[in-house]
Amino acid sequence: MTESITLDRLKIGKTARIISIEGEGSLKQHFLDMGLIPGAELSIVKTAPLGDPVEISIHGYLLTLRLSEAAKISVCETDDLSETSGVKQKKKVHAHPSLGEPGIHHDKSLKRAFPQDHILTFALVGNQNSGKTTLFNQLTGSNQHVGNFPGVTIDRKDGTIRKFKNTRITDLPGIYSMSPYSGEELVSRDFVLNEKPDAIINIVDATNIERNLYLTMQLLEMERPVVVAVNMMDELSGNGGSIDINIMESMLGVPVVPISAVKNAGVDELVTHAIHIAKYQEKPTEQDYCAPTDHEGAVHRCIHAVSSLIEDHAKRADIPVRFAASKAIEGDRLIIEKLQLDQNELDTLEHLTLQMESESGMERAVAIADMRFDFIKRVCDESVTKPHESRERIRSEKLDRVLTGKYTAIPVFVGIMVLIFILTFNVIGAWLQGLIETGIEALSGSVEALLISSGANEVIRGLIVKGIIEGVGSVLSFMPIVVVMFFFLSILEDSGYIARVAFFMDTLLRKIGLSGRSIVPLLIGFGCSVPAVMSTRTLPSDRDRRMTILLTPFMSCTAKLPIYGFFVNIFFPGYGGLIMAGLYFLGILVGILVAFLFKKTLFKGEAVPFVMELPNYRLPGIKNTLQLMWEKAKDFIQRAFSIILIATVIVWFLKTFDLGFNLAADPSESILAAIANLFVPIMAPLGLGDWRICTSLISGFMAKESVVSVMGVLYTGAGVSAAMTASTAGAFLVFSLLYTPCVAAIASIRREMGGKWAVAVIVWQCAVAWGVTAVFRLITLLFGAA
Ligand code: GDP
Ligand code: MG
Repeated sequence: MTESITLDRLKIGKTARIISIEGEGSLKQHFLDMGLIPGAELSIVKTAPLGDPVEISIHGYLLTLRLSEAAKISVCETDDLSETSGVKQKKKVHAHPSLGEPGIHHDKSLKRAFPQDHILTFALVGNQNSGKTTLFNQLTGSNQHVGNFPGVTIDRKDGTIRKFKNTRITDLPGIYSMSPYSGEELVSRDFVLNEKPDAIINIVDATNIERNLYLTMQLLEMERPVVVAVNMMDELSGNGGSIDINIMESMLGVPVVPISAVKNAGVDELVTHAIHIAKYQEKPTEQDYCAPTDHEGAVHRCIHAVSSLIEDHAKRADIPVRFAASKAIEGDRLIIEKLQLDQNELDTLEHLTLQMESESGMERAVAIADMRFDFIKRVCDESVTKPHESRERIRSEKLDRVLTGKYTAIPVFVGIMVLIFILTFNVIGAWLQGLIETGIEALSGSVEALLISSGANEVIRGLIVKGIIEGVGSVLSFMPIVVVMFFFLSILEDSGYIARVAFFMDTLLRKIGLSGRSIVPLLIGFGCSVPAVMSTRTLPSDRDRRMTILLTPFMSCTAKLPIYGFFVNIFFPGYGGLIMAGLYFLGILVGILVAFLFKKTLFKGEAVPFVMELPNYRLPGIKNTLQLMWEKAKDFIQRAFSIILIATVIVWFLKTFDLGFNLAADPSESILAAIANLFVPIMAPLGLGDWRICTSLISGFMAKESVVSVMGVLYTGAGVSAAMTASTAGAFLVFSLLYTPCVAAIASIRREMGGKWAVAVIVWQCAVAWGVTAVFRLITLLFGAA
């Protein structure tokens, strides 16, 4: 046997077996849950372009790991054992558990059945990226956003199974185990434990079955009816793999249904089983997975002893006994507290655990994980025929050679982003925008003619034509750009590319105190801050989450595009691309500086470990993509006709009347001017000391797009071009880029971080905007621009 080394010193391409894992607490648990357990074989696939993190292959899937964490894992090199699935034993004939099958074998005494009008509740639980959302959409006909990045589902979503009115199904965030590691894992665990759904639909990725069954094992301990949906069967069988469903069913003791969520195959059968087990409360027939032969039965005896020790406590605390026992042995604080054991019992628990540790030679958490993987191995040996290396995997490797290659990764990423921006702003988006603008001009022209001929009052005519049609219209014309931008972002996400970006950007993000995972919320921030803030829930540490949230406002969102476009058209025609790119870049730059500041002050310490799965590249489904675009378009139109329309009308009203509610002789005497004048002194040093400018910025707090429509209402005659110069327009753009995010974004920040932080963000962003704009102003003055 070769001597042991730490994993970070293992060479690329070499295979090794894990000997031990240092560290403690939830990180170690997370390692175990991801399949990094002693005895497992792994190999190093590559290192990221900047040297850190590394990509490893274990149990047939890809994980990223930082060198500093790899250093905690000792391994010993083994000869490259190419995947030996061993000679299959002759299959025994297995009886079905026959759960979930209407009409045969087992007793369906109506006693157990829920009444007809009972609403059956289901939880959809599974690993990240196993296809939960795709299945949820098939089941409910709803269109939740589907992505190929671990952790796109950020909150639970409810729906009703099509054709079954009395059902409610909840799509939970993806989890790897019932030991919570990130906030969203806690959401899923609490849901199953506390809300007690009538049944659990456990979705399992067939191409990644060992790792996925790890969660299944824990779900079976929950004393809830479970049906296992083995998803991605199309991919598995397409590559020559197969699963003997009967054997798997009998070993797991629950119904197992092979499905393909994207192809909608097997879904009806799944529904039949799910409804049946829920209705008749058919619980798993097996729970006792610890083999009396494994490690001389040390783990087995320990689990059973602890189960009897805590049984009544678990019942009182309303936690499934077997689950509570294994968690108590693992040392799960939350569960042990809930059990309320007395000192004596705690001592006995510790004693039993120590004995097990010494008998088995494994640490407690490792022993439990090992017990599960041991069982999973038996199940898979019996029932799964592994595919030859899958086409998808080979394709992924080829793509990865370029997309995460040492010299190509970052240039390609920059190239892709630039291409997306050019396509969005100059090609597709701009072309569609032109079409809409032409339409709006035609409309406003004919409406104006109509109003004049009918002798409408000039004030009203101004409101309708200038305010509503042109104001809302100028905002609407940006809809194509926003939708196209989201289209590209969603393609990046769905294809699995963003996970790679997180992988190779980790080193850079660590420099500003974040981990590679934060790249996702930040990129989504270029679309809209609201989903960006929400998606930070996938980050496992509070510190990273908060810091990422505070940085998202620096990523210029699509709602600011109308502002940029409006000013570019007037002051810098022909330089649109340059100015926009400059603004985006400025936002990122200021964001980075702020991150450094945060790292030194508010958020000292290190970003959390970065253990993440790299999914195979998958072609995004057309249906899902179109649905997303449609949602965004709808959302945008709704906003244009609600918030923005209202803001425009209110502004028109306030500027038309003076403080005595008489028609103002001049808008500068209006109520609006009186309010906005309060802000004029503050903005004056920036060259923005005009009440109309202040008003439009204030209305931008409601929705950024309304800055433009409000300007349309306020500036009449020669309009903005006469009132501002190129340099004040520049200052205005810089200020708009950085000042407070809109109400919707602030509301989501409040949800994630609380009211104080939300207010702090408003003040802080305005202060930063003021500061940066002041610098900008100084520079332009120095260079002699007026
Ligand atoms: P979630 O993270 O568990 O919600 O997973 P998603 O529903 O977002 O799906 C992850 C990826 O797997 C997406 O790219 C889906 O298109 C893809 N996918 C889902 N179900 C299947 C399936 O049955 N077959 C194949 N080939 N791909 C699937
Ligand atoms: Mg999902």
